[in-house]
Amino acid sequence: MDQQQQAHILLFPFPALGHIKPLLSLAELLCHAGLHVTFLNTDHNHRCLTHLQPLSTHFPTLRFESISDGLPTDHPRNVQLVGDLIFSVKSVTKPRFRDLLADLSTKSEHPVTCVIADGIMSFAIDIAKELGVRAMTFWAFSPCGLWSFLCMPKLIEEGQLPVGGEGDDMDQMVRSVPGMESILRRRDLPDICRQQVDDPLFQFFVEEFKAITRTSALILNSFDQLEALTLSHIDPLFSRIYTIGPLTALLTSRIAHDVSRSLSSFNNLCEADRSCMTWLDSQPLRSVVYVSFGSTGMMTRGQLFEFWHGLINSGKPFLWVVRQDGIAGVEGEHAIPEELHEGTKDRGFLVDWAPQEEVLAHQAVGGFLTHNGWNSTLEGIVAGVPMLCWPTIADQHINSRWVSEVWRIGLDMKDTCDRSTIEMMIRAMMEERREEITKSMDRIAKLAYDSANQGGSSYHNLDKLIEDIKKKV
Ligand code: UDP
Repeated sequence: MDQQQQAHILLFPFPALGHIKPLLSLAELLCHAGLHVTFLNTDHNHRCLTHLQPLSTHFPTLRFESISDGLPTDHPRNVQLVGDLIFSVKSVTKPRFRDLLADLSTKSEHPVTCVIADGIMSFAIDIAKELGVRAMTFWAFSPCGLWSFLCMPKLIEEGQLPVGGEGDDMDQMVRSVPGMESILRRRDLPDICRQQVDDPLFQFFVEEFKAITRTSALILNSFDQLEALTLSHIDPLFSRIYTIGPLTALLTSRIAHDVSRSLSSFNNLCEADRSCMTWLDSQPLRSVVYVSFGSTGMMTRGQLFEFWHGLINSGKPFLWVVRQDGIAGVEGEHAIPEELHEGTKDRGFLVDWAPQEEVLAHQAVGGFLTHNGWNSTLEGIVAGVPMLCWPTIADQHINSRWVSEVWRIGLDMKDTCDRSTIEMMIRAMMEERREEITKSMDRIAKLAYDSANQGGSSYHNLDKLIEDIKKKV
């Protein structure tokens, strides 16, 4: 048997769309290279994907498996209750994963030879090692986020955490994250740093970040030219790092354009409302602000109305993803208020879920009001669309700082949410500062394109990853 046929990778994301989507892209790329791939979802997410998945038809070496996340079927699994999911996966899914991997690595026709697990599921790496299966970590967040996470033990030791307490100067610079001394403010630290250090969730993340360096190889959805300085700090901590992003751009360069487009639209747990594409067709060139706060972001009704007034007052047309489960409120208050629907008709378009990558690539879109989830940030870069940042959780706070101050491809309005600021910032992104931002964005978008195409670093690193996975068999 040749090596290619024998290599079999088990991909295991943390059960949230922002983690599943890039690993599905990697699954496509590995299958395209002829490797066998098993994609492991939780039962809950698997049910959402099955009616959408033509992936196995396109890729005969791809198959799906599922495993319990340990939560009851009717659990909302939203960001407010993410702790339930994290601790349930750690206690219930972990032993089941051991059984499944033991089975897949010994009994199947093509035994699993390599596990690629999410960076916040170190148990999967440890179990793979115990069972003698090669293990690699996939980090779904940004490298700049990773570096700040890795420095958290030092920040705790120095008594710098938590941030955001009463009277805390959030604009004070953070001096203990090497390489970031002149950029990182206390307010830019990942949101977990705003929690008490004895909080169980805080403790969980600190332990996971310590564990990540136990991996034999780290895979990053980023590219060398975007984060050279940060990567130079992370590099010595791992024996091998593969920067293979933006994965969406690699999909386009590696797999025939039309195929990649049709497949990437299936990489979602939700079905997109495509009527917004027709609406976009009727809008002037680069005039529309696309607004999306990702798959888990939540806002209060008060914040929702501030954004709405800010958008309306800016005078710009807007396409806004308002997820039904994205409005925090007491029972019965989650629905999108009727006046919002009514008042939007003249100038905007609301959808529950958009085909985001296609929207960003549409010529009518001139700005992206985003929460800076790492996938969205990279998608904005690939499409070359200036960003206005309103981060809420995880690495988003640091991503937005990098967008505005390091790459200079957008504006950051974190920690504010009033209609006049929103209006002013939208005007700045779409008018006053448009030229300057677009210039930087064009440069960064070109770097992203180059890295993902033949001769580029991510293109090369994917080849290297595939080669190394095959070698180990
Ligand atoms: N997304 C989408 N349609 C939407 C909103 C989001 O397809 O209406 C996709 C988006 O393209 C991105 C992902 O959902 O790939 C969100 O991931 P990200 O890391 O940006 O944020 P998260 O959802 O993890 O907070």
